[in-house]
Amino acid sequence: MPRVHLVTTGGTIASRVDPQTGAAVPAVRAEELVADVPALGRVADLAVTEFCLESSWNLGPDRIAALARVVRGLTADPAVSGVVVTHGTDTLEETAFALDLLLDGETPVVLTGAMRDASTAGTDGPRNLVSAARSAVEPAARGLGVLVALNDEIHAARCVMKTHTTAMNTFASPGAGPVGSVDGEGVRIHARPARTPTLPLVDPEPRVYLVKMASGMDDLLLRALLDARARGVVIEGSGAGNVCGSWEDAIRDLVKADTPVVLSSRCPGGRVTPTYGAPGGGRRLRDLGVIPAGALSGPKARLALMFALGAGLDAAGLRAYLERLGG
Ligand code: ASP
Repeated sequence: MPRVHLVTTGGTIASRVDPQTGAAVPAVRAEELVADVPALGRVADLAVTEFCLESSWNLGPDRIAALARVVRGLTADPAVSGVVVTHGTDTLEETAFALDLLLDGETPVVLTGAMRDASTAGTDGPRNLVSAARSAVEPAARGLGVLVALNDEIHAARCVMKTHTTAMNTFASPGAGPVGSVDGEGVRIHARPARTPTLPLVDPEPRVYLVKMASGMDDLLLRALLDARARGVVIEGSGAGNVCGSWEDAIRDLVKADTPVVLSSRCPGGRVTPTYGAPGGGRRLRDLGVIPAGALSGPKARLALMFALGAGLDAAGLRAYLERLGG
């Protein structure tokens, strides 16, 4: 029987509704999570590590770096066929992407979670856990980097995002689609995207911020970040990467202050392109020295910037890395 190491972090998959408050809170310990799903024993020999028992929105990049060190140690063991990480779905895409940035090697690392807590009828946790374990021991999943398995679909960490607040099919990869699926017949991998170029596994630079553009918004937030000497700024622009024209001076001043400004799009799919020349247009932002994030979402571009700065990349190195990463 192949050996799977399960690392648990909390989230809805490990939550129950507290009868006192009526609110769902992480409460299911790792051993119990496994004991509740006997079918796992038919997929693999399981070893379990409880990393934490928290809601995902409280797991920041520094904790993700610590999680990456734990997972790296597990994947270094040749006896481990695959690693499954259970996680809250809210920021699952960020943790999956950060692990994809920080971990190389062939051993599958598969993240999963649930949209319905363990005390709710029709909870999807057990099925997702079994699907993730089956994906983790699937030979065709080797060398694909970090994967996300939920709702019978398998997605690449770089593309996947949570697209709906409550739907079971919330995870999607806009513009790319899943790389595989899980069904009664087994695990099917039907795409092999290029591996994410990795960064050194170091602690991330914490003072990197994300600003989402909305029509008519003035440059107050950018000015505040300049005054606070932020180490990096990611902007989610509109469309192919455009912002309010009034932001140009603040962007110019950030770049002049050696604060890298990375440009993503608030659109779920597609790449940013330097197409438009009106004030705030992507062509003018490029000429101001803004670094394009390619097809990366704002939160993922922020994680890439945090770990790249943590690794000491300068602006030129950053640009080159993000261009490779942006896809
Ligand atoms: N709603 C989240 C989940 O589905 C909770 C979390 O992200 O911790 O797991």
